[in-house]
Amino acid sequence: PSSSTPVLSLRGATKRFGGLVAVNNLDFDVMEHQVMGLIGPNGSGKSTTLNLISGALRPSAGSILLRGAPITHLRAHAIARRGVARTFQLVRVLPSMTVLENIRAGAVFGHRRRWGHEADAFATQMAEKVGLAGKLAMRVSQLTYIDTKRVELARALASEPRVLLLDEWLAGLNPTELGEGIALVRRLRDEGRTILLVEHVMDAIRSLCDACVVMAAGAKIAEGTPDEVLSDPEVIRAYLGE
Ligand code: ADP
Ligand code: MG
Repeated sequence: PSSSTPVLSLRGATKRFGGLVAVNNLDFDVMEHQVMGLIGPNGSGKSTTLNLISGALRPSAGSILLRGAPITHLRAHAIARRGVARTFQLVRVLPSMTVLENIRAGAVFGHRRRWGHEADAFATQMAEKVGLAGKLAMRVSQLTYIDTKRVELARALASEPRVLLLDEWLAGLNPTELGEGIALVRRLRDEGRTILLVEHVMDAIRSLCDACVVMAAGAKIAEGTPDEVLSDPEVIRAYLGE
Protein backbone atom coordinates (compact mmCIF):
# COMPACT_ATOMS: atom_id res chain seq x y z
CA PRO A 1 0.00 0.00 0.00
CA SER A 2 1.23 3.51 -0.80
CA SER A 3 1.17 6.35 1.72
CA SER A 4 -2.14 7.49 0.23
CA THR A 5 -3.78 4.11 0.93
CA PRO A 6 -6.11 4.56 3.90
CA VAL A 7 -5.17 2.60 7.00
CA LEU A 8 -8.83 1.68 7.44
CA SER A 9 -11.71 1.79 4.96
CA LEU A 10 -15.37 0.91 5.31
CA ARG A 11 -17.28 0.28 2.09
CA GLY A 12 -21.02 -0.13 2.39
CA ALA A 13 -20.63 -1.64 5.84
CA THR A 14 -24.02 -2.79 7.06
CA LYS A 15 -25.20 -4.63 10.16
CA ARG A 16 -28.74 -5.82 10.67
CA PHE A 17 -30.10 -7.22 13.92
CA GLY A 18 -33.34 -8.82 12.80
CA GLY A 19 -35.39 -5.93 11.43
CA LEU A 20 -33.11 -3.23 12.87
CA VAL A 21 -30.42 -1.77 10.61
CA ALA A 22 -27.86 -0.76 13.24
CA VAL A 23 -25.23 0.22 10.64
CA ASN A 24 -26.50 1.20 7.22
CA ASN A 25 -24.24 1.28 4.15
CA LEU A 26 -21.43 3.09 5.92
CA ASP A 27 -18.44 4.44 3.97
CA PHE A 28 -15.44 6.21 5.38
CA ASP A 29 -11.64 6.14 5.36
CA VAL A 30 -9.14 6.75 8.12
CA MET A 31 -5.75 7.90 6.82
CA GLU A 32 -2.41 7.24 8.49
CA HIS A 33 -1.72 9.59 11.45
CA GLN A 34 -5.31 10.79 11.36
CA VAL A 35 -7.56 11.08 14.42
CA MET A 36 -11.05 10.45 13.11
CA GLY A 37 -14.03 11.08 15.36
CA LEU A 38 -17.08 8.82 15.08
CA ILE A 39 -19.93 10.69 16.69
CA GLY A 40 -23.71 10.66 16.86
CA PRO A 41 -26.58 10.26 19.32
CA ASN A 42 -27.00 7.19 21.52
CA GLY A 43 -28.07 4.17 19.51
CA SER A 44 -26.80 5.59 16.21
CA GLY A 45 -24.54 2.59 15.57
CA LYS A 46 -21.08 3.74 16.71
CA SER A 47 -20.20 0.78 18.95
CA THR A 48 -21.63 -1.63 16.39
CA THR A 49 -19.31 -0.04 13.79
CA LEU A 50 -16.29 -0.65 16.05
CA ASN A 51 -17.54 -4.22 16.56
CA LEU A 52 -17.61 -4.73 12.78
CA ILE A 53 -14.09 -3.33 12.36
CA SER A 54 -12.60 -5.38 15.21
CA GLY A 55 -14.38 -8.57 14.17
CA ALA A 56 -16.57 -8.89 17.26
CA LEU A 57 -19.47 -8.87 14.78
CA ARG A 58 -19.63 -9.90 11.12
CA PRO A 59 -21.13 -7.37 8.71
CA SER A 60 -24.42 -8.30 7.01
CA ALA A 61 -23.09 -6.58 3.87
CA GLY A 62 -20.20 -4.44 2.71
CA SER A 63 -16.49 -4.67 3.35
CA ILE A 64 -13.80 -3.47 5.71
CA LEU A 65 -10.23 -2.97 4.49
CA LEU A 66 -7.01 -2.61 6.44
CA ARG A 67 -4.35 -0.89 4.29
CA GLY A 68 -6.33 -1.91 1.24
CA ALA A 69 -6.68 -5.61 2.18
CA PRO A 70 -10.08 -7.01 3.14
CA ILE A 71 -10.46 -8.08 6.77
CA THR A 72 -14.24 -8.36 6.54
CA HIS A 73 -14.55 -12.05 7.29
CA LEU A 74 -11.58 -12.56 9.58
CA ARG A 75 -12.06 -13.48 13.23
CA ALA A 76 -11.37 -10.96 15.98
CA HIS A 77 -8.00 -12.44 16.98
CA ALA A 78 -6.79 -12.43 13.37
CA ILE A 79 -7.86 -8.79 12.97
CA ALA A 80 -6.03 -7.90 16.21
CA ARG A 81 -2.91 -9.60 14.86
CA ARG A 82 -3.10 -7.49 11.73
CA GLY A 83 -2.97 -4.36 13.83
CA VAL A 84 -6.44 -3.29 14.96
CA ALA A 85 -6.66 -2.66 18.72
CA ARG A 86 -9.54 -1.29 20.73
CA THR A 87 -10.95 -0.30 24.08
CA PHE A 88 -14.55 -1.04 25.04
CA GLN A 89 -17.39 1.27 26.07
CA LEU A 90 -17.80 -0.98 29.13
CA VAL A 91 -14.21 -1.54 30.19
CA ARG A 92 -12.93 -5.10 29.70
CA VAL A 93 -9.93 -6.05 31.81
CA LEU A 94 -8.94 -9.06 33.90
CA PRO A 95 -9.58 -7.72 37.44
CA SER A 96 -7.80 -10.47 39.39
CA MET A 97 -4.62 -10.08 37.33
CA THR A 98 -2.01 -7.39 37.85
CA VAL A 99 -1.65 -4.23 35.81
CA LEU A 100 1.49 -5.63 34.17
CA GLU A 101 -0.16 -8.97 33.32
CA ASN A 102 -3.11 -7.22 31.70
CA ILE A 103 -0.95 -4.92 29.60
CA ARG A 104 1.46 -7.72 28.75
CA ALA A 105 -1.43 -9.63 27.14
CA GLY A 106 -1.62 -6.85 24.55
CA ALA A 107 2.08 -7.23 23.79
CA VAL A 108 1.85 -11.03 23.51
CA PHE A 109 -1.36 -11.35 21.49
CA GLY A 110 -1.05 -8.17 19.44
CA HIS A 111 0.39 -7.13 16.13
CA ARG A 112 4.08 -7.65 17.09
CA ARG A 113 3.87 -10.86 19.17
CA ARG A 114 6.45 -9.97 21.81
CA TRP A 115 7.50 -12.66 24.27
CA GLY A 116 9.25 -13.03 27.61
CA HIS A 117 11.38 -10.16 28.80
CA GLU A 118 10.65 -8.16 25.67
CA ALA A 119 6.90 -8.31 26.35
CA ASP A 120 7.46 -7.22 29.98
CA ALA A 121 9.69 -4.35 28.95
CA PHE A 122 7.29 -3.08 26.31
CA ALA A 123 4.28 -3.46 28.63
CA THR A 124 6.15 -1.48 31.28
CA GLN A 125 6.89 1.24 28.76
CA MET A 126 3.21 1.46 27.77
CA ALA A 127 2.16 1.54 31.45
CA GLU A 128 4.45 4.53 31.94
CA LYS A 129 3.04 6.22 28.85
CA VAL A 130 -0.53 6.11 30.22
CA GLY A 131 0.44 7.13 33.77
CA LEU A 132 0.55 3.76 35.53
CA ALA A 133 4.24 3.72 36.50
CA GLY A 134 4.47 2.45 40.06
CA LYS A 135 1.22 0.46 39.83
CA LEU A 136 2.48 -2.45 37.75
CA ALA A 137 2.17 -5.03 40.53
CA MET A 138 -1.29 -3.94 41.70
CA ARG A 139 -4.32 -6.06 40.93
CA VAL A 140 -6.62 -4.27 38.51
CA SER A 141 -9.52 -4.80 40.96
CA GLN A 142 -7.73 -2.43 43.38
CA LEU A 143 -7.53 0.43 40.87
CA THR A 144 -9.72 3.51 40.50
CA TYR A 145 -12.00 3.67 37.45
CA ILE A 146 -9.72 5.95 35.45
CA ASP A 147 -6.71 3.74 36.19
CA THR A 148 -8.71 0.74 34.97
CA LYS A 149 -9.35 2.65 31.75
CA ARG A 150 -5.63 3.44 31.55
CA VAL A 151 -4.89 -0.31 31.79
CA GLU A 152 -7.21 -1.04 28.89
CA LEU A 153 -5.63 1.71 26.81
CA ALA A 154 -2.10 0.54 27.64
CA ARG A 155 -3.03 -3.04 26.69
CA ALA A 156 -4.23 -1.77 23.31
CA LEU A 157 -1.04 0.28 22.84
CA ALA A 158 1.11 -2.71 23.83
CA SER A 159 -0.11 -4.52 20.71
CA GLU A 160 1.48 -1.71 18.61
CA PRO A 161 -1.66 -1.24 16.53
CA ARG A 162 -1.79 0.25 13.08
CA VAL A 163 -5.14 1.72 14.11
CA LEU A 164 -6.52 2.24 17.59
CA LEU A 165 -10.30 2.19 18.17
CA LEU A 166 -11.46 4.00 21.32
CA ASP A 167 -15.10 3.57 22.35
CA GLU A 168 -15.99 6.48 24.66
CA TRP A 169 -12.70 6.13 26.47
CA LEU A 170 -13.33 9.48 28.20
CA ALA A 171 -16.86 8.65 29.42
CA GLY A 172 -17.46 8.54 33.15
CA LEU A 173 -14.41 10.59 34.12
CA ASN A 174 -14.68 13.49 36.56
CA PRO A 175 -13.60 16.95 35.31
CA THR A 176 -10.00 16.62 36.53
CA GLU A 177 -9.66 13.13 35.08
CA LEU A 178 -11.25 14.31 31.86
CA GLY A 179 -8.54 16.94 31.46
CA GLU A 180 -5.87 14.28 32.05
CA GLY A 181 -7.62 11.87 29.67
CA ILE A 182 -7.80 14.41 26.87
CA ALA A 183 -4.13 15.30 27.39
CA LEU A 184 -3.22 11.61 27.19
CA VAL A 185 -5.10 11.04 23.92
CA ARG A 186 -3.54 14.25 22.59
CA ARG A 187 -0.07 12.83 23.31
CA LEU A 188 -1.01 9.69 21.35
CA ARG A 189 -2.16 11.91 18.52
CA ASP A 190 1.11 13.87 18.64
CA GLU A 191 3.01 10.58 18.36
CA GLY A 192 1.37 10.21 14.95
CA ARG A 193 -0.94 7.37 15.86
CA THR A 194 -3.96 6.53 13.73
CA ILE A 195 -7.08 6.63 15.89
CA LEU A 196 -10.82 6.16 15.39
CA LEU A 197 -12.43 7.85 18.37
CA VAL A 198 -16.05 7.31 19.38
CA GLU A 199 -16.79 10.21 21.69
CA HIS A 200 -19.57 12.32 23.17
CA VAL A 201 -17.47 14.95 24.91
CA MET A 202 -17.58 17.95 22.55
CA ASP A 203 -14.41 19.57 23.96
CA ALA A 204 -12.57 16.34 23.30
CA ILE A 205 -13.91 16.09 19.75
CA ARG A 206 -12.92 19.67 18.97
CA SER A 207 -9.46 19.40 20.46
CA LEU A 208 -8.52 15.89 19.30
CA CYS A 209 -10.15 15.12 15.94
CA ASP A 210 -8.80 16.02 12.51
CA ALA A 211 -12.13 14.97 10.98
CA CYS A 212 -15.42 13.46 12.09
CA VAL A 213 -17.99 11.09 10.68
CA VAL A 214 -21.45 11.71 12.13
CA MET A 215 -23.93 8.84 12.37
CA ALA A 216 -27.66 8.92 12.99
CA ALA A 217 -29.88 5.83 12.97
CA GLY A 218 -27.07 3.73 11.51
CA ALA A 219 -26.21 5.97 8.55
CA LYS A 220 -23.54 8.59 7.93
CA ILE A 221 -25.22 12.02 7.88
CA ALA A 222 -22.13 14.25 7.75
CA GLU A 223 -18.35 14.15 7.44
CA GLY A 224 -15.83 16.98 7.82
CA THR A 225 -13.80 18.89 10.35
CA PRO A 226 -15.24 19.10 13.88
CA ASP A 227 -16.23 22.74 13.29
CA GLU A 228 -17.94 21.88 10.00
CA VAL A 229 -19.96 18.95 11.27
CA LEU A 230 -20.89 20.45 14.64
CA SER A 231 -22.38 23.49 12.91
CA ASP A 232 -24.27 21.39 10.33
CA PRO A 233 -28.04 21.84 10.84
CA GLU A 234 -28.74 18.15 10.12
CA VAL A 235 -26.22 17.14 12.78
CA ILE A 236 -27.70 19.56 15.30
CA ARG A 237 -31.18 18.18 14.55
CA ALA A 238 -29.96 14.61 15.03
CA TYR A 239 -28.53 15.46 18.46
CA LEU A 240 -31.56 17.48 19.59
CA GLY A 241 -33.89 14.73 18.43
CA GLU A 242 -32.11 12.26 20.73
P1 ADP B 1 -24.12 3.63 19.86
O1 ADP B 1 -22.82 3.01 20.22
O2 ADP B 1 -24.03 4.66 18.79
O3 ADP B 1 -24.85 4.19 21.07
P2 ADP B 1 -24.90 0.91 19.19
O4 ADP B 1 -24.01 0.57 18.04
O5 ADP B 1 -24.55 0.37 20.52
O6 ADP B 1 -25.08 2.50 19.27
O7 ADP B 1 -26.37 0.42 18.86
C1 ADP B 1 -27.01 0.73 17.63
C2 ADP B 1 -28.36 0.04 17.60
O8 ADP B 1 -28.18 -1.36 17.49
C3 ADP B 1 -29.18 0.27 18.86
O9 ADP B 1 -30.54 0.36 18.49
C4 ADP B 1 -28.92 -0.98 19.67
O10 ADP B 1 -29.99 -1.27 20.52
C5 ADP B 1 -28.79 -2.03 18.56
N1 ADP B 1 -27.92 -3.14 18.94
C6 ADP B 1 -26.62 -3.06 19.26
N2 ADP B 1 -26.09 -4.27 19.48
C7 ADP B 1 -27.11 -5.16 19.31
C8 ADP B 1 -27.22 -6.59 19.39
N3 ADP B 1 -26.15 -7.34 19.70
N4 ADP B 1 -28.42 -7.13 19.14
C9 ADP B 1 -29.49 -6.38 18.81
N5 ADP B 1 -29.46 -5.04 18.69
C10 ADP B 1 -28.29 -4.44 18.95
MG1 MG C 1 -21.79 2.93 22.01
